[in-house]
Amino acid sequence: MSNAVIQVSPATIDQMKQKYNRYLQSKVPTGAVFTAKPPGCTITAYKSGKVLFQGKTASDEASQWGSEQPSKAKKSSTPQKKSAYSPPANISELSIIGSDEVGTGDYFGPITVVAAFAAKEQLELLKELGVKDSKALKDPQIVQIAKDIIQVIPYTLLVLHNEKYNELQAKGMSQGKMKALLHNQALLKLQAKLGSAHYDGILIDQFAEPSTYYNYIKDQKNQVKENVYFSTQGEGVHLAVAAASIIARYSFIQQMDKLSKLAGFDIPKGAGSQVDIAAAKLIQAKGEQALRTFTKLHFANTMKAKKLAKR
Ligand code: MN
Repeated sequence: MSNAVIQVSPATIDQMKQKYNRYLQSKVPTGAVFTAKPPGCTITAYKSGKVLFQGKTASDEASQWGSEQPSKAKKSSTPQKKSAYSPPANISELSIIGSDEVGTGDYFGPITVVAAFAAKEQLELLKELGVKDSKALKDPQIVQIAKDIIQVIPYTLLVLHNEKYNELQAKGMSQGKMKALLHNQALLKLQAKLGSAHYDGILIDQFAEPSTYYNYIKDQKNQVKENVYFSTQGEGVHLAVAAASIIARYSFIQQMDKLSKLAGFDIPKGAGSQVDIAAAKLIQAKGEQALRTFTKLHFANTMKAKKLAKR
């Protein structure tokens, strides 16, 4: 059993509550905002902004939201060290390539990964175009901002469709490894596109420990390694990551629109109960095989949808 404690803003606690909506518990300890039990983990968020993760997947789950605090409870562990991968203090003013992905927690739809380059001369413009943490933006705003920024900054986009995702997953590849391969590939393609243009560094929105990330891509012939920084909540660390995130979400929205057209009805995002219902509807309309191209089959939603479809 492992533990992780992070400190987050009230806004992040709201986002967490939304994300873990379907796992919320009715009993909540004193001083807590919510308790949720997603698979492998118990999460308790407190009014103080501290969030406690307990269980097998604690550190994975926690790392999506923030980095761990050095806590007194962890007496024996090594102190939080500033690693070679921590971004420099002035990173927000530098010319940076950022990368981020979307769709990993959504049952329907692909994973989209974007690497985007924001030169320091363009940071003001990006701000004016509305680039900021995409979690604070609604879909119509995302589309609007994305359409503007793809005109002004170089980027590369990769879409991992579900046929391929399910094939890789069935062969035993973890989602973490898929993400790492996609980020590395998107970064390589962008570097090729940029040619000799100068940039100060690369910032990957952290989804795994850097050592784990490099372990995932160790068999790749070309690995992006130089001047690479990792940060959780990277959208707030540099606008290049925020821009990458917005373009990735724009692409994801477009893909979901395509799937909705194919299905003949609106395909919902996320992995909540409305997703189970839509998947059941899809099974009834097109047969179980359709899930292979529409969804990430290994999610628990598949079982639930199959049950619902039989009713
Ligand atoms: Mn991210």
